[in-house]
Parts: sequence; structure tokens; C-alpha cells
Amino acid sequence: MGGTFDPIHHAHLLIAEEIRRRFELPRVIFMPSGKPPHKTDAEITSAEDRYVMVQLATADNQHFYVSRMEIEREGPSYTIDTIRTLRSRMGEGAEVYFVTGADAILEILTWHEPDAIIEEARVVAVPRPGFDLRELKETLGPRRASKVTVIDAPPADISSTNIRERVAIGTSIRYLVPPPVIDYIRKRGLYRSDNGSGSRGPTC
Ligand code: ATP
Ligand code: MG
Repeated sequence: MGGTFDPIHHAHLLIAEEIRRRFELPRVIFMPSGKPPHKTDAEITSAEDRYVMVQLATADNQHFYVSRMEIEREGPSYTIDTIRTLRSRMGEGAEVYFVTGADAILEILTWHEPDAIIEEARVVAVPRPGFDLRELKETLGPRRASKVTVIDAPPADISSTNIRERVAIGTSIRYLVPPPVIDYIRKRGLYRSDNGSGSRGPTC
């Protein structure tokens, strides 16, 4: 499961657990992106902070792992490179699933080598409030859409964007983000609006 995870939140965790259970997967690998190709313009929190938050959020689930693969790879984080590396490491016969929310799958044609992603991984799409997976066929075309597995996980209207906004204006993020991640955000001063022109670094 790839993402910026800026920060990781309960919808990410809920989706990961649901997919793991539905497909009886031995593990879910969370893959924080290094330099997200789609987010180069927006300032994002350091990869290390995002990585630590994913670790804190997933520590209590024995099936959840966090990978530094995309963080350590030079250049932009392309999902297809990650899928190929995972497949080659896991050997013949291993199947790699790539889990996306409705927003992400509906824009997959803008990604690097979208057809290869769909061919080389089993792409699973989950609903997300505000995005309509019935548009999949029209947006991707019937051939690609038929290869994407759509599942109906419980929808949760949570986004990292909203969490960052809430922290910036001092609104609680309790129940949106796991407690250890809330503590980390507070200690590091992430997402605060009072640390200079909206920058996301710690205050000191
Ligand atoms: P941002 O608002 O910064 O874009 P985000 O909440 O969308 O953050 P990402 O790290 O961008 O989180 O998302 C990682 C993956 O999780 C993507 O595939 C995204 O579609 C999916 N995802 C995130 N939140 C949800 C949600 N509430 N429901 C379904 N899928 C989600
Ligand atoms: Mg997003």
C-alpha cells in the first residue's frame, strides 16, 4: 500500500486490514513515497517523519510492515519500479497486490507506465467518499477496468489534507489518527501554522 502518509490515518489502516482479511494476505507492506511525482510542487513533510509515523501506526499489527524502498530510491517514486522490485525479491509465484483508494485509481492513467502497473500487480480499488468508482470503466477504458478488483470496504471520510488543516488551526485529530502518531505530530511540531509561512517542519 503506497502513499505519501503525510500523516498516516485510520482510513489507511482500515483499508489495509480489510484487504488483508478479504484476500487472506500474509502481510501488508506500507510504502511511504520518497519524492511523490504528483506532489513535487507542494511542500511535504520529510520522508523520515512520514516513515516514523507509519511505523508508529502499524507497530501493533503483526501483519503490517513498513518499507524504506521508495524513500531510499533516487529520483521520483514510481509505483511500477516498486512493484517490479517486490516481485523480483519475492520470487516466482508470489503475487503482489497494489491497494489504492478511489481517487488514486481514477487518476492512474497520469502515472508512469499505468498499463504495466495493472498487468504486473493485482490492483485493488477501495471506495473513498467524494469519488465514484462507477466511473472506472469510462476513465480507464473497459480493458484496464476489467483488471482492477473493486471491493466495498467501509468508507471513511478521512484525508491527510484535512488532518494537516485541523492541526494548523488547532482542532483535535483524535480518532482520526492513532494516538502514538498524534504524540509524534505534537512533539515534532508538524503541520502547525505558527512555524513560518505554512512550512511543515518542527518549530525548533
Ligand atoms: P492527502 O490528502 O495528503 O492526499 P490522503 O489522505 O489522500 O492524503 P495518501 O497518502 O495520499 O492519503 O493516500 C495513500 C493511499 O490511500 C491512496 O491510494 C489513497 O487513495 C488511499 N486513501 C487515503 N485515504 C483514504 C480514504 N479515506 N478512503 C479510501 N482510500 C484512501
Ligand atoms: Mg492523497
